[in-house]
Amino acid sequence: MPWAVLLGDQDTVTRYWSHVLRRAADACWFWLGGLTDTGHGTFRAGSHTTGTSRVVPAHLYGYRLAHGVDALAGGLVVRHRCDEPPCQNPAHWLAGSRGDNNRDAAARRHLSGHPLTDVRGAAGRARAVQAAIATAASPDEIEAAIAAALAAGHPGGAHQDALW
Ligand SMILES: [Zn+2]
Repeated sequence: MPWAVLLGDQDTVTRYWSHVLRRAADACWFWLGGLTDTGHGTFRAGSHTTGTSRVVPAHLYGYRLAHGVDALAGGLVVRHRCDEPPCQNPAHWLAGSRGDNNRDAAARRHLSGHPLTDVRGAAGRARAVQAAIATAASPDEIEAAIAAALAAGHPGGAHQDALW
């Protein structure tokens, strides 16, 4: 992947940020563009000025944008502390190994009310948040819509033990 070229292209950087809903410093910054089956953001990086373009995972582009082109050298992956795959808040990312990432998921996937236990699955959850944001008209409405969209994935309530 020609990361240096794609990260250096101002059109791509602008397009990346145009798909990110920037919120409070500690909140999840949801991706508003394309989504993968795992709920991760995806977009086409590159433009006519770079002479090359690739579809890239949004968080891998954003992580390198925040920490440098070589930040994930050696096979490192980006872990989401918040367990929201579409999240683009750099403060919610942590580089680690694939094993770290698998251990994160194993440790958290049985916690009730947790993103990983959303009945819609990761992609369904990400799509529901995007749809909620799209219909909200003001910043306050956006916050309420996101909260409702997230809660809808846990129909039994966040503090009730999961039955499935
Ligand atoms: Zn987050």
